Amino acid sequence: MSLKLTILGCHSATPRTFAHPSAQFLEMNNRSFLIDCGEGTQTQLRKYKVKFSKIKHIFISHLHGDHFYGLIGLISTFSLLNRETELHVFAPKGAEEIIKLQLKHSKSWLHFPLHFHELTSKKSELIFEDENVEVHTIPLKHRIYTNGFLFKEKLGERKLNISAILNNKEIEICDYQNLKDGKDFVQKDGTVISNTNLTRNPPPIVKYAYCSDTAYFEEIIPIIKGVNLLYHESTFLEDKVALAKTTKHATAKQAASIAKQAQVGKLILGHYSSRYKNLNLFLEEAQKTFENVALSEAGKEFVIVN
Ligand SMILES: [Zn+2]
Ligand SMILES: [Zn+2]
Repeated sequence: MSLKLTILGCHSATPRTFAHPSAQFLEMNNRSFLIDCGEGTQTQLRKYKVKFSKIKHIFISHLHGDHFYGLIGLISTFSLLNRETELHVFAPKGAEEIIKLQLKHSKSWLHFPLHFHELTSKKSELIFEDENVEVHTIPLKHRIYTNGFLFKEKLGERKLNISAILNNKEIEICDYQNLKDGKDFVQKDGTVISNTNLTRNPPPIVKYAYCSDTAYFEEIIPIIKGVNLLYHESTFLEDKVALAKTTKHATAKQAASIAKQAQVGKLILGHYSSRYKNLNLFLEEAQKTFENVALSEAGKEFVIVN
């Protein structure tokens, strides 16, 4: 049960020499996901040694350029590298049309299946699920249709309490799977041995919530409640709270308030406006409201092992 998040870019608006727009690479429970794909994401992936072959699912929050202008470049590079593995892109309505138009007019033929999953719902929905992980949308409040994403491990099997099992001569190896599935054990004389006497709880699941871009929006709190790690945009400091409101972005203080109310484990700030040269001011502002805060920075990794 674990999570590793690598920040590839965490600045707003235009790419600059040392400021890359939004993109993150998440590894969770043997699965991996690319979250947003700002311009230059493919060079950041190379820089931080993320294998392209690990990218099979891409989640795009919204269609502002700083979150998806890297997508056509990445898809084009996959094609030049003769990728054959299918690629799934979860993105708002319009992304498929834009990307396919670019491919059409550049006469680019892909050798791999490219599947778009169009997001249109304004309510949180389950958009990806396999045996290890679930992904839900987090509808956000921004100038255009935008979703954050909640990544959740699935609860694993119960763990065998080997010493308790060995004390019962009737339990055989072929019974172990039933015990891991939570079933009670029935002895030959009809006595029922409760599963909780023979197994232990599985490790707690790990959850990560990505919330960019958004105004201060308390409606996300029930969705992100108790996550281990929350990335919440903080484009501005409180000195620009009025500008944050009109542009539908958040301040560091507002991000911290959301983190506090949602009782998250740790808050990561990002999507900084280029007007701020000293990013420590974001940390200081947020920590007045919520203590466990970190600044995102390209190349920084966040690891959680339960
Ligand atoms: Zn943005
Ligand atoms: Zn935006």
